[in-house]
Amino acid sequence: METDVIIVGAGPAGLMLAGELRLAGARTVVLERHPQPRDIPKASGLGGRILDLLRHRGILSCELA
Ligand SMILES: Cc1cc2nc3c(=O)[nH]c(=O)nc-3n(C[C@H](O)[C@H](O)[C@H](O)COP(=O)(O)OP(=O)(O)OC[C@H]3O[C@@H](n4cnc5c(N)ncnc54)[C@H](O)[C@@H]3O)c2cc1C
Repeated sequence: METDVIIVGAGPAGLMLAGELRLAGARTVVLERHPQPRDIPKASGLGGRILDLLRHRGILSCELA
């Protein structure tokens, strides 16, 4: 498999980075040590700077805060 970027960790940071790189044309592979999603959610809501980031990228169209 050929790839441009290998990202270690499929948390929010790794998945966001993978999506952004793919949109920019890079081939990415995300490696995650846990084979299944966790039972306990680690993000039941969005707040703070992430809202600014999502708005900046045009991903968040509604006003949540
Ligand atoms: C119980 C709990 C509830 C939370 N609730 C909220 C919430 O409601 N709202 C909110 O905004 N935030 C919440 N958070 C915080 C939020 O989950 C974190 O800020 C966020 O997950 C950080 O993202 P990250 O990608 O930096 O790291 P992580 O989410 O920690 O992701 C890193 C990933 O990398 C993987 N990894 C690490 N090392 C390796 C390796 N060597 N090889 C392969 N894979 C590897 C890990 O398994 C993990 O999946 C919560 C956190 C917890 C613990």
